Amino acid sequence: MISVRELEKRYGPLRAVADLSFEVERGEIVGLLGHNGAGKTTVMKVMTGFLEPTAGTVTIGGVDVTQDRIGVQRQIGYLPENAPLYPEMLVQEYLLMMAELRGIPPEKRIPAVADAVKATGLDARLVQPISTLSKGYRQRVGLAQAILHRPDVLVLDEPTNGLDPVQIVEIRELIRRLAQTTTVILSTHILSEIEAVCDRVVILIDGELAADDTLQNLLSSNVVRVSVGEGAKDVPRALAKVDGVESVKREGERAGYTTWRAICQKGVDATPAIARAALEAGWTIGGITPETPSLEQVFRDLMARHVSEAKAGKKKEAAA
Ligand code: ATP
Repeated sequence: MISVRELEKRYGPLRAVADLSFEVERGEIVGLLGHNGAGKTTVMKVMTGFLEPTAGTVTIGGVDVTQDRIGVQRQIGYLPENAPLYPEMLVQEYLLMMAELRGIPPEKRIPAVADAVKATGLDARLVQPISTLSKGYRQRVGLAQAILHRPDVLVLDEPTNGLDPVQIVEIRELIRRLAQTTTVILSTHILSEIEAVCDRVVILIDGELAADDTLQNLLSSNVVRVSVGEGAKDVPRALAKVDGVESVKREGERAGYTTWRAICQKGVDATPAIARAALEAGWTIGGITPETPSLEQVFRDLMARHVSEAKAGKKKEAAA
């Protein structure tokens, strides 16, 4: 549905996005995750035709955004980071105006607004001036204008930014509901947002792709911790012989149990085989548990790798 290919965007000398490629399939909810200034908004502005790419292509439903911006915008509902709302207007006035600006024919405007209002739970606010709405409800108005023309794709830039915890939960529920019929890409720097809403995450660091994977894969561990009681012999050697285990490290000792970390091949769950080996060896087992990293840990590891690769690159450049 969305295809980003070797995208680059420069602002003068600053390269905000570099060689970025990823795909979003129909029906997915994908999170674009990155620190402040990582390039998320830039990617979304290029995707929605508000900025020209320096190089590379973005296609939505097979339409290239640089060839047919209007054709792309027809398929997209966009909620910018600071959605421009007109505070003095009533909610229904604003939505009817947006329906007109979107080119929805006059006879279809009221049904389109009614559907968007229903989907976003704005029924009771229709004749309220936008300036008197809470931030959460203003965000609903932003979402309602984004779905007026029943787009196939929703592009949401930091949709819960600045909301209180209750509003955040409400907007996330709303996004999940909208995603039942629409492909969604949303940007955020909030890790819990990704975990709460998305199927897949594209991680940007300094404008470069650092990861593109399902949450399940990103959070799957390749480490199994094995605690064994006193008297267990040859533990590292026995663990290293288990299929799928690449190496074994001693973690420490506590209350008569020694804990070992078995580092396994990525994608291999060696836990059952480790348990069998431990039983066969007759060890007293304190616990055999696969480690589950948090998304925060995954993100920190990616940042650390990015920084060390950048440093190594600079050293190479200096030496050349
Ligand atoms: P945030 O989470 O803070 O919104 P972001 O990940 O959305 O950040 P961008 O807004 O895309 O990041 O910015 C990426 C980089 O490009 C930043 O260094 C930013 O300062 C720079 N930048 C963005 N817009 C412009 C512009 N119009 N002119 C010059 N530099 C810009």
